[in-house]
Amino acid sequence: MCYAIPGKVKRFQDKFVIVDYFGEERRAYNELDDLSIGDYIYAQGGYAIQKIASDEAESILMTWKETFFELQEVDLQLSRMDLESKDLSLRVVGLLDKVNHGFSLKTDELEYILGLEDEKEKEFICKNANFLRQKYHKNACCVHGIIEISNRCARDCHYCGISTFNNNLIRYHMDADEIFAVAQKAVKEYSFKALVLQSGEECGYNTRELAGVISKIRRELGALVFISFGEISLEALDQYYQAGARGILLRFETSNEGLYNRLHPGGALARRIDLIRAADKRGYLVATGGLIGLPGATAHDIVNDALLAKELNAEMYSFGPFIPSHDTPLSQSFSVSPDYMRMVIALIRLVDPAKGKILVTTAFETLDPLARRQGLLCGANSVMLNVTPRRYRQLYSIYPGRAHQSQSIPEQIEETIVLLKSLGRAPTDLGI
Ligand code: SAH
Repeated sequence: MCYAIPGKVKRFQDKFVIVDYFGEERRAYNELDDLSIGDYIYAQGGYAIQKIASDEAESILMTWKETFFELQEVDLQLSRMDLESKDLSLRVVGLLDKVNHGFSLKTDELEYILGLEDEKEKEFICKNANFLRQKYHKNACCVHGIIEISNRCARDCHYCGISTFNNNLIRYHMDADEIFAVAQKAVKEYSFKALVLQSGEECGYNTRELAGVISKIRRELGALVFISFGEISLEALDQYYQAGARGILLRFETSNEGLYNRLHPGGALARRIDLIRAADKRGYLVATGGLIGLPGATAHDIVNDALLAKELNAEMYSFGPFIPSHDTPLSQSFSVSPDYMRMVIALIRLVDPAKGKILVTTAFETLDPLARRQGLLCGANSVMLNVTPRRYRQLYSIYPGRAHQSQSIPEQIEETIVLLKSLGRAPTDLGI
């Protein structure tokens, strides 16, 4: 299985290469040496990450070609809008018309959409979000792998099951060799092209050690690396970039400062946001977002969350439902409904129809076994598979009962491919 389609280099344009995929041209930032017109490459997140031998690329393309067009056709059918929008209020029709013509909705308009109760109207919003996803992103669906390298954490976020509140948790810590071995398996055996390395905060690695692994993964495996180590110093941000990391997954969690302060003793929303901005400025692809349904958060906050993620230049929106975790101060709280989560995903797509990818998070899948399908049908176009060794996965217990906790990597891949096929999606990241 392949999580990227080889593209053929057509021409160079400043620091970019223009790449052809079955007649469609995309642009990728080029950091590869010795690339020539006619070469084949893999691109991820808008970066040319790896050159591939022509015969290998051509044989992959042969097997892909027919499927690629067949899938596109299925997706097109499923995302078609029923223009006979009967039974919808004039306001809903007007707002969607506005978005579909390329105008941004205002905060109160987005809040109105999130507050809709009529089932037909909500369904229509989701369909419209899927239509926009197809229009701008076509049928590509990013499939990244995540490796949870350590569950040690020095922070006391009130919702999080690996925070310092949880004294009952066995803590683990993969060393550099183990991280590389896991990454190697994900790339070589299972063809992942992009990997997220995630951990709790200040969990005992030194920057040089992690930079070393990142650089080895980038150099020897050719994968795109995202870091997700929480709030790190600007120096570390720089060092990881120099080592080859090109993405950062760092949620601001909530855009509501009062709420942020209550849930993160000693934390500061501005500091976290500044770090996301610094990463963006440094050249990192930004994956960000927050928790939906934190006690005390309102629809107004959620709209602001979506707008803040857009303002932070999100390449990927990562929003998942808050799920109460035992041994934390919020253990007795409640999650939002899967239906509400679907509306949030659709809302994000209305906020950013054209640029960002939207992830169906594992937390959403934990709320609802059908979440992946539902999310992909209301604007999302990205999933993340957990490639952490299973003995550690259950210890990375940010919330209980995480989906895919005990599923092997081949099982996860199989399930994902079957689903994507049924929806006409190609497990690829063609870039921009
Ligand atoms: N230390 C890293 C990774 C933290 S865990 C960082 O700070 O970015 C990754 C994400 O899990 C967090 O950003 C948070 O949004 C999410 N998370 C934590 N507890 C959760 C819970 N109870 N329910 C749902 N998601 C949770």
